[in-house]
Order: sequence, then structure tokens, then C-alpha cells
Amino acid sequence: MRYLVVGAGVAGTSAIKEMIKVRDGKDEIVVFTEEPFPFYYRPRLIECLSGEVDVDDIIINDKSWFENNDIELHLEEKILSIDTSVKFVESDKAKTYYYDKLLLANGAHSFVPPIKGCKLKNVFTLRNGKDAEEIYSKVKNCSTAVVVGGGLLGLESAYNFAKAGLKPYVLEKSPYLLSQQLDEKGGKLLQKKLEDKNIEIMIEASTEEFIGSDKVETVKLEDGSTIDTDLVLLSTGVRSNIDLVADTPIETNRGIVVDSKMKTNVDSVFAAGDAAEYQGRVYGIWPPSMEEGKVAGKIMTGQKAEFNGFIPSHSLKIAGIDVVSIGELNKGGDYREEIILDNDIYVKVIEDENGEKVGAIIVGEYKDKKSLIDAIKG
Ligand SMILES: Cc1cc2nc3c(=O)[nH]c(=O)nc-3n(C[C@H](O)[C@H](O)[C@H](O)COP(=O)(O)OP(=O)(O)OC[C@H]3O[C@@H](n4cnc5c(N)ncnc54)[C@H](O)[C@@H]3O)c2cc1C
Repeated sequence: MRYLVVGAGVAGTSAIKEMIKVRDGKDEIVVFTEEPFPFYYRPRLIECLSGEVDVDDIIINDKSWFENNDIELHLEEKILSIDTSVKFVESDKAKTYYYDKLLLANGAHSFVPPIKGCKLKNVFTLRNGKDAEEIYSKVKNCSTAVVVGGGLLGLESAYNFAKAGLKPYVLEKSPYLLSQQLDEKGGKLLQKKLEDKNIEIMIEASTEEFIGSDKVETVKLEDGSTIDTDLVLLSTGVRSNIDLVADTPIETNRGIVVDSKMKTNVDSVFAAGDAAEYQGRVYGIWPPSMEEGKVAGKIMTGQKAEFNGFIPSHSLKIAGIDVVSIGELNKGGDYREEIILDNDIYVKVIEDENGEKVGAIIVGEYKDKKSLIDAIKG
């Protein structure tokens, strides 16, 4: 059996780890990545922005791991097309590779919003090791950075810019931070805590244009105000890499559509991770990508497995600050809210008409966090 895996991220590598457990001596496993690095811990790329680590420090399985496990690893080789009837793929090295079973674990890319001036130098997105290296090479000569997008990734990036000695600004469109997870009081306390860490947060801030002659010099907002900057990081979401299958019968929506066995609608073709959409969802985070990869690897090698969806964690650390958002948050009617708010902690507990705790928001270090979460989980 010849297995081709497009993508050496967590989904692809987790699949391979399942394949080698049951591998027959004759089975071939071939994996492609368009990047120069083997499997690394992508979430830690953010730490590369402060210079505390570099990409080599976050490699999980290096080249020798692939060699020792008799896996043919193709670094810096991009798959350009797939022929699902004759069962082969073609790469940017003008090579053709046949498969018996194909796994598409080709991830996602950063979304670039249509803002004027996006092509100026020093306007970046952060998705891979090369992006991180390039940004850090500029950080050393910069004093200010603007992060467009106040989600988890944007806030963490700003924190790392601050650690590198830059003055970071975060531009967030919503009226308060993490408006999907928090309420206004929680969002405002988080903002204050980040500002105490030297991160400037601008809310209801829509970016109109990046201005500069060669590289970015100024960010202009829709309200007419401006911020002078040396660098911009766009942190405005990701999109699944579905272009690769555009000319095939493989079904896509936001991602490559898969069932609970990670099968696509085309025989012998599977997908997992950020590239895949399961029950209308592309998770876009590490743990379900790993789980989907494992399921794909098992099913491709004839083992039993099933993906049953994933509930994202409700407990986060953002720039070292505890943030919890769990359960029912915005119930009116008979639902009762108990709020503890001081300068340092915000806790909102929501109880139903029977006094059962059904939801909570926490910002800051709350000593009863664990028991509160346990009570809500039931
Ligand atoms: C900066 C950053 C911070 C993050 N922080 C967190 C976090 O805190 N928590 C969390 O849970 N998740 C986080 N994530 C998301 C998490 O990293 C992803 O969900 C996860 O890496 C997805 O894994 P994947 O294997 O599906 O795709 P990826 O890790 O994106 O791997 C895709 C692979 O496919 C290869 N590839 C793509 N196209 C081709 C092609 N045409 N030919 C050949 N190879 C190709 C790539 O080179 C790569 O090897 C973060 C992501 C980023 C970028």
C-alpha cells in the first residue's frame, strides 16, 4: 500500500504515527510539506516574535525521526494538483507521485482583508516558520508594531512584541475584547490588564489603509485617526487550503468536507486538520487537528476509529492572564447573575431558575475557578 500525505503538520504527522504502528513491511509512506521545516509546534511560533525561541527550538519530529521510521519526507515540495481517477498528485518540482490512499492535511492560510496598502513591506501575517523568522528579523530594528485583530492570536502576538521591547497597538473592531467569549465588563478588565503590560488596545477601531512609500509607516483608521508604526501584523483569521482540490470532484465548503471517519466524498481520499470541515465546522485549533489526524491514520490502515467532534477549552491564558468563558452566558428571564468585580478580578456566574450554575466568565486569578468550572460542567 502506498500512502501519500500532503502536510507535515499535526494532522498529517498524527496520521503517520498511527500508520507506522500497524505498518506492513511493504507499505510506503510519503509526506510532503511546502515548508523547509519538518513537524513543529505551530502555536509556539508566536514566541519566536520576541526572540525567546526560534523555529528549530519548537521542532517536534526532526528529519532523522522521519528517516528512522522509513518515511519519505519531502521538504519544500508543494503539491499543485490531484488526479483522483488515475490516483496521483503533481508537485512544483514537476514530479508525479501515485497513491493508493491520499490524506489531505494541508492546513490553512492567514486571511488577508482587503485593506489598501496590504502589499507594503513590513505588513505581515503569521502562519509558518518562515513568516516568524522574517518578522523577527525586522522586529530587531522596529520600535512600534500594530496588530490588526484582537483575537487570541493577535493579543498573544502583541504581548510578544512587547517582550521584544516594541510598543504594540492592537486594533479591535468590536466594542470590547473577545466579544464572543466575554461580556463588556470582562472584556474591559482584560483590556486594562493588557494595558498594564504595555499593550495599547484600541477598540471599535476599523483599519482603513496602510500608508508608506516602500514600507508601512502609518496606519489610518476609518475615524480618520492615525498611528505611526514600523510594522503591521494582520491577525484577522484563517481560511482552509481548499484551492488544491478546486479542479477535482472532492467536495468542499469552507473546508474539505469529511465524515466522522475523515473520508471525503471521493474514494481513497481523506482529509484532516485545518483543511477539513466536519459537520459544518473547521476547528482551526491544534487538539482537534491532532484527533482528526489520528482517526484518518487509523481508518486509512484498516483500523477502527471515529471522530465525534470537539468541545474547545473554556480556560485560556492570554498574555499570562487567566480567562474563562463557559456555558450559557447571555440568558435573561429568570436567570440570575452574581458578579464579583474588583480592580483585579471579574467573575460572573449565571444560575438558572433552580439555582444551578449554568455559565461563567472569569478574568484574572480567581481562587475558586476550578470548583466553579466543575459545578457548571455538572
Ligand atoms: C501563530 C499561530 C498560533 C496558534 N496558536 C494556537 C493555540 O494557542 N492553540 C491551538 O489550539 N491552536 C493554535 N493555532 C492553530 C494550530 O496551529 C492549527 O490548528 C494546527 O497547526 C493545524 O494543523 P494542521 O496539521 O491541520 O495544519 P498545519 O499545521 O497548517 O500544517 C499544514 C501542512 O501542510 C503543508 N502544506 C500546505 N499546503 C501544501 C501543499 N500544497 N503542498 C505541500 N504541503 C502543503 C504545510 O507546509 C504544513 O506542513 C495557532 C496557529 C498559528 C499559526
